[in-house]
Amino acid sequence: MAEKPQLVSISPEDIETDECLRTYTHIYSPDLLIDQVAFITGGGSGIGFRIAEVLMRHGCDTVIASRNLEKLSEASKKLTGATGKRCLPIVMDVRKPETITAAVDETLKTFGRVDILINNAAGNFLCPATSLSFNAFKTVMEIDTMGTFNASKVVFDKWFKDHGGSIVNISATLGYRGQALQVHAGSAKAANDAMTRHLAVEWGPNGVRVNTVAPGPISGTEGYRRLGGSHAETAGAFRGIPLQRAGNKTEIAHAVLFLASRAASYVTGTILVTDGGAWLTSTNDVEQMLGFWSAEKRKDK
Ligand code: NAP
Repeated sequence: MAEKPQLVSISPEDIETDECLRTYTHIYSPDLLIDQVAFITGGGSGIGFRIAEVLMRHGCDTVIASRNLEKLSEASKKLTGATGKRCLPIVMDVRKPETITAAVDETLKTFGRVDILINNAAGNFLCPATSLSFNAFKTVMEIDTMGTFNASKVVFDKWFKDHGGSIVNISATLGYRGQALQVHAGSAKAANDAMTRHLAVEWGPNGVRVNTVAPGPISGTEGYRRLGGSHAETAGAFRGIPLQRAGNKTEIAHAVLFLASRAASYVTGTILVTDGGAWLTSTNDVEQMLGFWSAEKRKDK
């Protein structure tokens, strides 16, 4: 049998927790986003935290906005400490447009501008459709889909309409093949993918680019824990992914950095799937997913 080639790892630095990177190797110029301001929903944890860090390492100031002030304040201290850039934590609920309006007003008062909006806030969990309450489905739609529209509209009306800007939505590949136990999040993200194209078309003349990053399984995140990532890894399920591993948060942040920055100046209305090819090949085993779901439910009791 032919020997497996010795592959050089090309994945960038990452750490599992919501801490800043101990080392970071720039791929783009450290000045790529100099003097810009990014508004990141859900920027206090997981993928959103790493996006904030990587944007700040490229010269940007940030606003991180979500519901939990304690988490945001701690994250903001870490981010400023590691990058030397400013990071303003703001309490806001993407389901409540008036809180977004207040947050964007505060952003403009503090920084005088906003150049980038990252719609990253979301809620997700595994649940078979028959066990999903009407309210649970509605809540996920409200956070993921309406939240993305609400934040985009407020930032557009208050700043992007007259100054241009870049929106990057964080989506998922769940709906591409109808992932089991994910009708709520898959439906919400599919709507967001359509929203990306609608808003790209409508707001292009205002100098606004609207794009999406669709991550696959990303280690060191709440999503990975809740959706059975470690379980899948232990069971060897990632060997079926073309790149044969989960992604990391820095890899998602790099995809976002590309789309948010002038490196993607002629890119709008696109969905950049960042999943190592996972959705093309991954198994969609309903029995196995149901088994994992019931085991987790038993643990919760
Ligand atoms: P996470 O750490 O739980 O991030 C979600 C963030 O959203 C949290 O910081 C949370 O902060 C915020 N949030 C939730 N509800 C909110 C609300 N109503 N208003 C404002 N903020 C709210 O999870 P993650 O895994 O990093 O996920 C980040 C994004 O990546 C999500 O869009 C997710 O769908 C997507 N994604 C993740 C994976 C993965 O493997 N992890 C795969 C595909 C897609 P508060 O609790 O403070 O509000």
